[in-house]
Amino acid sequence: MNYRVLLYYKYTTIEDPTEFAATHLAFCKSLDLKGRILVATEGINGTICGTIEATDAYMAALLADERFKDTYFKIDLAETNAFRKMIVRPRKELVALNLEDDVNPLETTGKYIEPVEFREALLDDDTVVIDARNDYEYDLGHFRGSVRPDIRNFRELPEWIRANKEKFMDKKIVTYCTGGIRCEKFSGWLMKEGFEDVSQLHGGIAVYGKDPQTKGELWDGKMYVFDDRISVEINHVDKKIVGKDWFDGTPCERYINCANPFCNKQILSSEANETKYLGSCSAECRHHPANLYAKRHQISETEFSKRLAAFSN
Ligand SMILES: [Zn+2]
Repeated sequence: MNYRVLLYYKYTTIEDPTEFAATHLAFCKSLDLKGRILVATEGINGTICGTIEATDAYMAALLADERFKDTYFKIDLAETNAFRKMIVRPRKELVALNLEDDVNPLETTGKYIEPVEFREALLDDDTVVIDARNDYEYDLGHFRGSVRPDIRNFRELPEWIRANKEKFMDKKIVTYCTGGIRCEKFSGWLMKEGFEDVSQLHGGIAVYGKDPQTKGELWDGKMYVFDDRISVEINHVDKKIVGKDWFDGTPCERYINCANPFCNKQILSSEANETKYLGSCSAECRHHPANLYAKRHQISETEFSKRLAAFSN
């Protein structure tokens, strides 16, 4: 495998994110890297892919900069480039939590715990382990026994915690997310809310899956990632599929986007069900005039209409 995917973030101060983004984009392009990087006055968050040499050069350059000197890179090998474009975007904040008072993780954040300690926390009755990601990420894979907040998007998490406060108030709380960045803020916010014992999985699920001692144990399913790979394996001990086919509930780990571009919902579906339901999450989406199924699967509009007509709704 000649490519590497880097996942990293660093909370630090970037004076002029817009200017930084432009320079950084030119630098990434000079190395022929692809991926997505967000830049804000509070720091940097990226996932990029390139050759071994290019990613080495990138890491060296970042680490040589005082602001990013102790950035921790999570590294995966890949067959080909997992991204198609190189994007560097200035943003107001790295992680959107919809907070009235923003949390600065450099001042307030939960204790870091390493994979082995995290595995113990999963088995401890006095600890609540909260998944700090979006619902579709949880549904593809999550830690055994972790709490799935009843939300569509990570941004709704604070509101949901407030509404369910009694359930967690006297417990130890541990949070986890993909690479750790969402927990930096979320765990800090929990502390500000009055929760006393708050920890976060250091380096996120990505690090846990590579830990030589835990080998990803107690993780079920696959981990959702935001690039062309869509998902990666975490548990190398006793893998179990938890994803369920949107249409018939059978075990499934294959993602498709609803064929209605205005919906575009990510659902798990077998190839057979994708064909059967014309790649659409609902009857409404199936009949939507902009439906892309025919185009995506290179069948004629006539054929598509015929198959559409075969549905009772
Ligand atoms: Zn849909």
